[in-house]
Amino acid sequence: MPRLVSHPDEVKIVSRRFGQGATNIDRYIELGGYEAAKKALAQGPDWIINEMKASNLRGRGGAGFSTGMKWSFVPKQSAKPKSVLVNGDESEPGTCKDHLIFLHDPHSVIEGTIIAGLAIGAKTGFIYLRGEYRYLLEIVEKAVAAAYAHGFLGKRIFGSDTEFQIITQTGAGAYEVGEESALMESLEGKRGIPRIKPPFPAVVGLYGGPTIINNAETIATVPHIISMGAAPYAEIGTPRNGGTRLFCLSGHVERPGVYELPMGYNLKKMIYEVGGGIAGGRALKAVVPGGSSTPVLLPEEIDIGMDFDQVGKAGSMLGSGGVVVIDDHTCMVEFALRTIAFYQHESCGWCIPCREGTDWLKKSLSRFHAGFGRAADIDNIRRIAENILGRTFCPLGDAAAMPTIAFVKKFRKEFEDHLNGRPCPFAKEGVPQLAVV
Ligand code: SF4
Repeated sequence: MPRLVSHPDEVKIVSRRFGQGATNIDRYIELGGYEAAKKALAQGPDWIINEMKASNLRGRGGAGFSTGMKWSFVPKQSAKPKSVLVNGDESEPGTCKDHLIFLHDPHSVIEGTIIAGLAIGAKTGFIYLRGEYRYLLEIVEKAVAAAYAHGFLGKRIFGSDTEFQIITQTGAGAYEVGEESALMESLEGKRGIPRIKPPFPAVVGLYGGPTIINNAETIATVPHIISMGAAPYAEIGTPRNGGTRLFCLSGHVERPGVYELPMGYNLKKMIYEVGGGIAGGRALKAVVPGGSSTPVLLPEEIDIGMDFDQVGKAGSMLGSGGVVVIDDHTCMVEFALRTIAFYQHESCGWCIPCREGTDWLKKSLSRFHAGFGRAADIDNIRRIAENILGRTFCPLGDAAAMPTIAFVKKFRKEFEDHLNGRPCPFAKEGVPQLAVV
Protein backbone atom coordinates (compact mmCIF):
# COMPACT_ATOMS: atom_id res chain seq x y z
CA MET A 1 0.00 0.00 0.00
CA PRO A 2 1.54 3.38 -0.98
CA ARG A 3 2.47 5.42 2.06
CA LEU A 4 1.67 9.09 2.51
CA VAL A 5 4.74 11.14 1.72
CA SER A 6 5.48 14.79 1.45
CA HIS A 7 7.97 17.11 -0.22
CA PRO A 8 8.19 20.94 -0.20
CA ASP A 9 7.87 21.07 -4.01
CA GLU A 10 4.45 19.46 -3.88
CA VAL A 11 1.37 21.50 -4.73
CA LYS A 12 -1.33 19.66 -2.90
CA ILE A 13 -4.67 20.04 -4.63
CA VAL A 14 -6.07 16.56 -5.22
CA SER A 15 -4.14 15.18 -2.26
CA ARG A 16 -4.80 18.07 0.11
CA ARG A 17 -7.35 16.12 2.16
CA PHE A 18 -5.29 12.90 2.33
CA GLY A 19 -4.81 11.89 5.95
CA GLN A 20 -7.32 14.51 7.14
CA GLY A 21 -10.20 12.17 7.99
CA ALA A 22 -12.15 13.28 4.90
CA THR A 23 -13.76 9.87 4.41
CA ASN A 24 -16.21 11.24 6.99
CA ILE A 25 -18.68 13.52 5.19
CA ASP A 26 -18.83 16.09 8.00
CA ARG A 27 -15.04 16.45 7.93
CA TYR A 28 -15.14 16.65 4.13
CA ILE A 29 -17.70 19.47 4.36
CA GLU A 30 -15.61 21.20 7.03
CA LEU A 31 -12.71 21.12 4.56
CA GLY A 32 -14.79 22.87 1.90
CA GLY A 33 -16.38 19.79 0.38
CA TYR A 34 -19.54 19.90 -1.78
CA GLU A 35 -19.30 23.70 -2.23
CA ALA A 36 -18.03 23.14 -5.77
CA ALA A 37 -21.04 20.98 -6.64
CA LYS A 38 -23.38 23.70 -5.32
CA LYS A 39 -21.52 26.31 -7.35
CA ALA A 40 -21.66 24.15 -10.49
CA LEU A 41 -25.38 23.56 -10.00
CA ALA A 42 -25.98 27.30 -9.80
CA GLN A 43 -23.81 28.09 -12.85
CA GLY A 44 -25.12 25.46 -15.28
CA PRO A 45 -23.69 23.06 -17.88
CA ASP A 46 -22.12 25.50 -20.37
CA TRP A 47 -20.23 27.32 -17.64
CA ILE A 48 -18.92 24.03 -16.20
CA ILE A 49 -17.68 22.78 -19.57
CA ASN A 50 -16.04 26.13 -20.36
CA GLU A 51 -14.26 26.04 -17.01
CA MET A 52 -13.01 22.54 -17.72
CA LYS A 53 -11.73 23.60 -21.12
CA ALA A 54 -10.03 26.69 -19.69
CA SER A 55 -8.37 24.67 -16.93
CA ASN A 56 -6.40 22.61 -19.47
CA LEU A 57 -7.17 19.51 -17.44
CA ARG A 58 -6.17 16.46 -19.45
CA GLY A 59 -7.22 12.91 -18.63
CA ARG A 60 -5.10 11.42 -15.87
CA GLY A 61 -5.73 7.83 -16.92
CA GLY A 62 -3.08 7.92 -19.60
CA ALA A 63 -4.48 9.22 -22.87
CA GLY A 64 -4.23 12.87 -21.83
CA PHE A 65 -7.28 14.04 -23.75
CA SER A 66 -8.83 17.40 -22.78
CA THR A 67 -11.55 16.76 -20.20
CA GLY A 68 -13.59 19.81 -21.23
CA MET A 69 -13.47 18.78 -24.89
CA LYS A 70 -14.54 15.25 -24.04
CA TRP A 71 -17.53 16.54 -22.09
CA SER A 72 -18.50 18.91 -24.89
CA PHE A 73 -18.87 15.98 -27.33
CA VAL A 74 -21.93 14.67 -25.47
CA PRO A 75 -25.08 15.65 -27.37
CA LYS A 76 -27.32 18.04 -25.45
CA GLN A 77 -30.46 16.08 -26.37
CA SER A 78 -30.59 12.32 -26.21
CA ALA A 79 -33.43 9.81 -26.37
CA LYS A 80 -31.38 7.45 -24.20
CA PRO A 81 -30.22 8.27 -20.68
CA LYS A 82 -26.76 9.80 -20.35
CA SER A 83 -24.21 8.52 -17.84
CA VAL A 84 -20.96 9.41 -16.14
CA LEU A 85 -18.59 6.51 -15.62
CA VAL A 86 -15.64 6.85 -13.25
CA ASN A 87 -12.81 4.56 -14.25
CA GLY A 88 -11.31 3.29 -11.00
CA ASP A 89 -9.87 0.20 -12.66
CA GLU A 90 -6.35 1.32 -11.86
CA SER A 91 -4.20 -1.58 -13.06
CA GLU A 92 -1.18 -0.21 -14.90
CA PRO A 93 1.95 -1.59 -13.19
CA GLY A 94 3.71 1.25 -11.41
CA THR A 95 0.51 3.17 -10.74
CA CYS A 96 -1.17 3.42 -7.34
CA LYS A 97 -2.65 6.92 -7.09
CA ASP A 98 -6.41 6.40 -7.59
CA HIS A 99 -6.20 3.93 -4.76
CA LEU A 100 -5.14 6.76 -2.42
CA ILE A 101 -8.00 8.97 -3.58
CA PHE A 102 -10.60 6.30 -2.81
CA LEU A 103 -8.88 5.50 0.47
CA HIS A 104 -8.53 9.06 1.78
CA ASP A 105 -10.95 11.26 -0.14
CA PRO A 106 -13.84 9.28 -1.69
CA HIS A 107 -16.19 12.27 -1.51
CA SER A 108 -14.02 14.16 -4.00
CA VAL A 109 -14.82 11.42 -6.55
CA ILE A 110 -18.51 11.59 -5.67
CA GLU A 111 -18.54 15.39 -5.92
CA GLY A 112 -16.63 15.32 -9.22
CA THR A 113 -19.09 12.77 -10.58
CA ILE A 114 -22.04 15.00 -9.64
CA ILE A 115 -20.40 17.97 -11.40
CA ALA A 116 -19.68 15.89 -14.51
CA GLY A 117 -23.32 14.77 -14.48
CA LEU A 118 -24.49 18.38 -14.26
CA ALA A 119 -22.22 19.31 -17.17
CA ILE A 120 -23.63 16.75 -19.58
CA GLY A 121 -27.18 16.43 -18.22
CA ALA A 122 -26.78 12.89 -16.85
CA LYS A 123 -28.87 11.57 -14.00
CA THR A 124 -26.67 8.60 -13.19
CA GLY A 125 -23.02 8.14 -12.33
CA PHE A 126 -21.17 4.85 -11.94
CA ILE A 127 -18.02 4.41 -9.90
CA TYR A 128 -16.16 1.31 -11.08
CA LEU A 129 -13.38 -0.03 -8.86
CA ARG A 130 -10.92 -2.65 -9.99
CA GLY A 131 -11.58 -6.11 -8.55
CA GLU A 132 -8.40 -5.99 -6.49
CA TYR A 133 -9.69 -2.79 -4.81
CA ARG A 134 -12.73 -4.57 -3.42
CA TYR A 135 -11.52 -3.67 0.08
CA LEU A 136 -12.03 0.00 -0.84
CA LEU A 137 -15.64 -0.60 -1.83
CA GLU A 138 -16.86 -0.32 1.74
CA ILE A 139 -15.24 3.12 2.09
CA VAL A 140 -16.73 4.34 -1.18
CA GLU A 141 -20.17 2.91 -0.48
CA LYS A 142 -20.23 4.47 2.99
CA ALA A 143 -19.38 7.82 1.40
CA VAL A 144 -22.10 7.41 -1.24
CA ALA A 145 -24.66 6.53 1.47
CA ALA A 146 -23.65 9.61 3.49
CA ALA A 147 -24.03 11.81 0.39
CA TYR A 148 -27.55 10.44 -0.09
CA ALA A 149 -28.34 11.04 3.58
CA HIS A 150 -27.24 14.68 3.23
CA GLY A 151 -29.38 15.19 0.10
CA PHE A 152 -26.33 15.63 -2.15
CA LEU A 153 -27.45 12.61 -4.18
CA GLY A 154 -30.98 11.51 -4.99
CA LYS A 155 -34.08 12.90 -6.69
CA ARG A 156 -33.50 16.53 -5.63
CA ILE A 157 -29.81 17.16 -5.07
CA PHE A 158 -28.96 20.12 -2.82
CA GLY A 159 -32.71 20.89 -2.62
CA SER A 160 -32.96 21.56 -6.39
CA ASP A 161 -35.13 19.93 -9.05
CA THR A 162 -32.10 18.05 -10.38
CA GLU A 163 -31.73 14.31 -9.90
CA PHE A 164 -28.42 12.48 -9.65
CA GLN A 165 -27.82 8.93 -8.50
CA ILE A 166 -24.54 7.04 -8.01
CA ILE A 167 -24.06 3.30 -8.39
CA THR A 168 -20.86 1.48 -7.42
CA GLN A 169 -19.42 -1.59 -9.11
CA THR A 170 -16.27 -3.69 -8.85
CA GLY A 171 -14.50 -5.61 -11.58
CA ALA A 172 -13.22 -9.17 -11.50
CA GLY A 173 -9.51 -8.52 -11.86
CA ALA A 174 -8.92 -7.85 -15.56
CA TYR A 175 -6.44 -5.17 -16.67
CA GLU A 176 -8.21 -4.97 -20.00
CA VAL A 177 -11.27 -3.50 -18.35
CA GLY A 178 -9.35 -0.26 -17.83
CA GLU A 179 -9.99 0.37 -21.54
CA GLU A 180 -13.13 2.47 -21.63
CA SER A 181 -15.30 0.34 -23.92
CA ALA A 182 -14.28 -2.89 -22.15
CA LEU A 183 -15.16 -1.12 -18.91
CA MET A 184 -18.68 -0.48 -20.19
CA GLU A 185 -19.04 -4.09 -21.32
CA SER A 186 -17.99 -5.27 -17.86
CA LEU A 187 -20.34 -2.84 -16.15
CA GLU A 188 -23.19 -4.14 -18.28
CA GLY A 189 -22.44 -7.63 -16.97
CA LYS A 190 -20.71 -8.91 -20.08
CA ARG A 191 -17.20 -10.21 -20.73
CA GLY A 192 -14.79 -7.27 -20.47
CA ILE A 193 -13.53 -6.97 -24.03
CA PRO A 194 -13.41 -3.74 -26.05
CA ARG A 195 -16.04 -2.47 -28.46
CA ILE A 196 -15.22 -1.41 -31.98
CA LYS A 197 -15.11 2.40 -32.29
CA PRO A 198 -16.78 4.45 -33.66
CA PRO A 199 -19.31 5.01 -32.28
CA PHE A 200 -17.52 6.64 -29.37
CA PRO A 201 -18.92 6.50 -25.84
CA ALA A 202 -19.86 10.21 -25.85
CA VAL A 203 -22.51 9.30 -28.42
CA VAL A 204 -23.22 5.59 -27.83
CA GLY A 205 -21.89 4.42 -24.50
CA LEU A 206 -23.24 2.67 -21.46
CA TYR A 207 -26.54 0.88 -22.21
CA GLY A 208 -26.51 2.65 -25.58
CA GLY A 209 -26.72 6.15 -24.11
CA PRO A 210 -24.16 8.99 -24.30
CA THR A 211 -21.47 8.44 -21.66
CA ILE A 212 -18.40 10.23 -20.45
CA ILE A 213 -15.72 8.05 -18.96
CA ASN A 214 -13.04 9.66 -16.84
CA ASN A 215 -10.24 8.34 -14.70
CA ALA A 216 -10.77 8.66 -10.92
CA GLU A 217 -7.98 11.26 -10.52
CA THR A 218 -9.47 13.37 -13.33
CA ILE A 219 -12.88 13.31 -11.67
CA ALA A 220 -11.43 14.02 -8.20
CA THR A 221 -9.69 17.09 -9.67
CA VAL A 222 -12.91 18.59 -11.01
CA PRO A 223 -14.31 20.00 -7.72
CA HIS A 224 -10.97 21.70 -7.02
CA ILE A 225 -11.03 23.41 -10.42
CA ILE A 226 -14.59 24.60 -9.88
CA SER A 227 -13.65 25.92 -6.42
CA MET A 228 -10.37 27.64 -7.24
CA GLY A 229 -11.23 28.70 -10.80
CA ALA A 230 -9.95 27.41 -14.11
CA ALA A 231 -7.35 30.13 -14.71
CA PRO A 232 -5.42 29.72 -11.41
CA TYR A 233 -5.47 25.96 -11.92
CA ALA A 234 -4.17 26.19 -15.49
CA GLU A 235 -1.38 28.54 -14.37
CA ILE A 236 0.12 25.88 -12.09
CA GLY A 237 1.06 23.64 -15.01
CA THR A 238 2.60 24.23 -18.41
CA PRO A 239 0.87 25.39 -21.61
CA ARG A 240 -1.85 22.88 -22.62
CA ASN A 241 -1.13 20.87 -19.46
CA GLY A 242 -3.02 22.40 -16.56
CA GLY A 243 -2.57 21.87 -12.85
CA THR A 244 -0.90 19.11 -10.92
CA ARG A 245 -0.55 15.39 -11.21
CA LEU A 246 -0.20 12.54 -8.74
CA PHE A 247 3.10 10.91 -9.66
CA CYS A 248 3.72 7.41 -8.32
CA LEU A 249 7.45 7.24 -7.79
CA SER A 250 8.61 3.66 -7.32
CA GLY A 251 11.50 1.29 -7.93
CA HIS A 252 15.05 2.01 -6.87
CA VAL A 253 14.62 5.40 -5.21
CA GLU A 254 15.32 6.33 -1.61
CA ARG A 255 11.86 7.81 -0.98
CA PRO A 256 9.22 6.10 -3.10
CA GLY A 257 5.65 7.32 -2.80
CA VAL A 258 2.84 9.26 -4.45
CA TYR A 259 3.75 12.95 -4.88
CA GLU A 260 1.50 15.67 -6.23
CA LEU A 261 3.65 17.90 -8.39
CA PRO A 262 2.90 20.57 -10.99
CA MET A 263 2.55 19.33 -14.55
CA GLY A 264 5.87 19.89 -16.26
CA TYR A 265 7.96 19.16 -13.16
CA ASN A 266 11.44 18.04 -14.13
CA LEU A 267 11.82 14.24 -14.12
CA LYS A 268 15.46 14.28 -13.04
CA LYS A 269 14.61 16.57 -10.12
CA MET A 270 11.71 14.31 -9.22
CA ILE A 271 14.04 11.32 -8.92
CA TYR A 272 17.03 12.98 -7.27
CA GLU A 273 15.38 15.61 -5.07
CA VAL A 274 11.82 14.52 -4.39
CA GLY A 275 12.67 10.83 -4.39
CA GLY A 276 16.03 11.32 -2.66
CA GLY A 277 18.09 9.75 -5.45
CA ILE A 278 18.87 6.17 -6.36
CA ALA A 279 18.52 3.71 -3.50
CA GLY A 280 21.76 2.62 -1.87
CA GLY A 281 23.75 5.27 -3.76
CA ARG A 282 23.75 3.15 -6.92
CA ALA A 283 23.74 4.50 -10.46
CA LEU A 284 20.64 5.13 -12.53
CA LYS A 285 20.17 2.83 -15.48
CA ALA A 286 16.73 3.67 -16.86
CA VAL A 287 13.35 5.18 -16.06
CA VAL A 288 9.88 4.08 -17.12
CA PRO A 289 8.10 7.45 -17.01
CA GLY A 290 4.38 6.69 -17.14
CA GLY A 291 3.50 3.12 -16.19
CA SER A 292 4.74 -0.13 -17.68
CA SER A 293 3.30 0.50 -21.15
CA THR A 294 5.47 3.57 -21.76
CA PRO A 295 8.86 3.32 -23.52
CA VAL A 296 11.86 3.37 -21.21
CA LEU A 297 14.12 6.43 -21.00
CA LEU A 298 17.89 6.42 -20.53
CA PRO A 299 19.57 8.58 -17.84
CA GLU A 300 20.60 11.13 -20.46
CA GLU A 301 16.96 11.47 -21.57
CA ILE A 302 15.37 12.38 -18.24
CA ASP A 303 16.12 16.09 -18.03
CA ILE A 304 12.57 16.82 -19.23
CA GLY A 305 9.36 18.34 -17.92
CA MET A 306 6.73 15.79 -16.96
CA ASP A 307 3.80 16.83 -19.09
CA PHE A 308 2.10 15.05 -21.98
CA ASP A 309 3.88 17.08 -24.65
CA GLN A 310 7.44 17.09 -23.30
CA VAL A 311 7.53 13.38 -22.48
CA GLY A 312 6.03 12.67 -25.92
CA LYS A 313 8.79 14.72 -27.51
CA ALA A 314 11.37 12.63 -25.62
CA GLY A 315 9.96 9.49 -27.29
CA SER A 316 7.83 8.17 -24.46
CA MET A 317 4.53 9.00 -22.78
CA LEU A 318 3.33 10.53 -19.53
CA GLY A 319 0.78 7.71 -19.32
CA SER A 320 -0.73 7.02 -15.93
CA GLY A 321 1.92 8.82 -13.90
CA GLY A 322 3.77 5.70 -12.73
CA VAL A 323 7.47 6.60 -12.66
CA VAL A 324 9.56 3.44 -12.21
CA VAL A 325 13.23 4.02 -11.44
CA ILE A 326 15.68 1.27 -12.41
CA ASP A 327 19.21 0.99 -11.04
CA ASP A 328 22.34 -0.41 -12.68
CA HIS A 329 22.00 -3.78 -10.95
CA THR A 330 18.86 -4.58 -12.93
CA CYS A 331 18.79 -6.94 -15.89
CA MET A 332 16.84 -5.20 -18.65
CA VAL A 333 16.11 -8.49 -20.41
CA GLU A 334 14.41 -9.67 -17.25
CA PHE A 335 12.65 -6.33 -16.92
CA ALA A 336 11.39 -6.66 -20.51
CA LEU A 337 10.30 -10.25 -19.81
CA ARG A 338 8.41 -9.30 -16.65
CA THR A 339 6.69 -6.46 -18.52
CA ILE A 340 5.61 -8.64 -21.44
CA ALA A 341 4.57 -11.50 -19.15
CA PHE A 342 2.05 -9.10 -17.62
CA TYR A 343 0.56 -8.07 -20.97
CA GLN A 344 0.52 -11.63 -22.26
CA HIS A 345 -1.42 -12.68 -19.19
CA GLU A 346 -3.84 -9.77 -19.50
CA SER A 347 -4.47 -10.00 -23.26
CA CYS A 348 -8.15 -10.74 -23.75
CA GLY A 349 -7.28 -12.81 -26.81
CA TRP A 350 -9.74 -11.14 -29.17
CA CYS A 351 -7.24 -10.03 -31.81
CA ILE A 352 -4.47 -12.18 -33.19
CA PRO A 353 -1.51 -9.74 -33.16
CA CYS A 354 -1.96 -9.16 -29.43
CA ARG A 355 -2.90 -12.71 -28.44
CA GLU A 356 -0.19 -14.46 -30.46
CA GLY A 357 2.36 -11.66 -30.43
CA THR A 358 2.50 -11.25 -26.67
CA ASP A 359 2.77 -15.01 -26.30
CA TRP A 360 5.70 -15.23 -28.71
CA LEU A 361 7.39 -12.27 -27.06
CA LYS A 362 7.09 -13.86 -23.67
CA LYS A 363 8.47 -17.17 -24.97
CA SER A 364 11.38 -15.50 -26.78
CA LEU A 365 12.30 -13.22 -23.89
CA SER A 366 12.05 -16.06 -21.44
CA ARG A 367 14.44 -18.14 -23.55
CA PHE A 368 16.79 -15.20 -23.81
CA HIS A 369 16.84 -14.56 -20.14
CA ALA A 370 17.57 -18.21 -19.48
CA GLY A 371 20.65 -17.85 -21.73
CA PHE A 372 19.33 -19.76 -24.73
CA GLY A 373 18.74 -16.87 -27.11
CA ARG A 374 20.00 -16.82 -30.68
CA ALA A 375 21.48 -13.73 -32.30
CA ALA A 376 18.65 -13.55 -34.86
CA ASP A 377 16.06 -13.54 -32.07
CA ILE A 378 16.96 -10.01 -31.01
CA ASP A 379 15.62 -8.57 -34.25
CA ASN A 380 12.77 -11.07 -34.23
CA ILE A 381 11.62 -9.79 -30.86
CA ARG A 382 11.68 -6.25 -32.20
CA ARG A 383 9.83 -7.32 -35.38
CA ILE A 384 7.11 -9.18 -33.47
CA ALA A 385 6.55 -6.10 -31.33
CA GLU A 386 6.47 -3.85 -34.40
CA ASN A 387 3.85 -6.11 -35.95
CA ILE A 388 1.61 -5.79 -32.90
CA LEU A 389 1.93 -2.00 -32.83
CA GLY A 390 -1.11 -0.25 -34.33
CA ARG A 391 -2.72 -3.51 -35.43
CA THR A 392 -4.98 -4.29 -32.51
CA PHE A 393 -8.52 -3.41 -31.46
CA CYS A 394 -7.50 -1.75 -28.23
CA PRO A 395 -4.38 -0.08 -26.82
CA LEU A 396 -3.22 -3.16 -24.89
CA GLY A 397 -1.40 -4.36 -28.00
CA ASP A 398 0.50 -1.07 -28.22
CA ALA A 399 1.08 -1.17 -24.48
CA ALA A 400 2.94 -4.46 -24.93
CA ALA A 401 4.74 -3.49 -28.12
CA MET A 402 6.03 0.00 -27.33
CA PRO A 403 8.12 -0.83 -24.25
CA THR A 404 9.49 -4.00 -25.90
CA ILE A 405 10.72 -2.06 -28.93
CA ALA A 406 12.38 0.48 -26.63
CA PHE A 407 14.04 -2.21 -24.48
CA VAL A 408 15.59 -3.89 -27.53
CA LYS A 409 16.62 -0.59 -29.10
CA LYS A 410 18.18 0.92 -26.01
CA PHE A 411 19.60 -2.18 -24.33
CA ARG A 412 20.69 -4.31 -27.29
CA LYS A 413 24.08 -4.98 -25.72
CA GLU A 414 22.41 -6.60 -22.71
CA PHE A 415 20.43 -8.87 -25.00
CA GLU A 416 23.67 -9.87 -26.72
CA ASP A 417 25.23 -10.59 -23.34
CA HIS A 418 22.60 -13.26 -22.76
CA LEU A 419 23.38 -15.14 -25.97
CA ASN A 420 24.78 -18.64 -26.41
CA GLY A 421 24.15 -20.19 -23.03
CA ARG A 422 25.66 -17.34 -21.07
CA PRO A 423 24.04 -16.89 -17.68
CA CYS A 424 22.31 -13.60 -16.96
CA PRO A 425 25.13 -11.19 -15.99
CA PHE A 426 22.86 -9.69 -13.34
CA ALA A 427 21.77 -12.96 -11.75
CA LYS A 428 22.11 -12.83 -8.02
CA GLU A 429 23.08 -15.81 -5.99
CA GLY A 430 20.06 -17.45 -4.45
CA VAL A 431 17.59 -15.58 -6.65
CA PRO A 432 15.80 -18.06 -8.91
CA GLN A 433 15.90 -17.23 -12.62
CA LEU A 434 12.61 -16.83 -14.46
CA ALA A 435 11.68 -20.14 -15.98
CA VAL A 436 10.90 -20.76 -19.65
CA VAL A 437 7.12 -21.02 -19.86
FE1 SF4 B 1 -7.86 -8.00 -26.55
FE2 SF4 B 1 -5.26 -7.49 -26.87
FE3 SF4 B 1 -6.91 -7.15 -28.88
FE4 SF4 B 1 -7.04 -5.49 -26.78
S1 SF4 B 1 -5.34 -5.69 -28.20
S2 SF4 B 1 -8.73 -6.43 -27.87
S3 SF4 B 1 -6.51 -6.94 -25.12
S4 SF4 B 1 -6.45 -9.13 -27.85
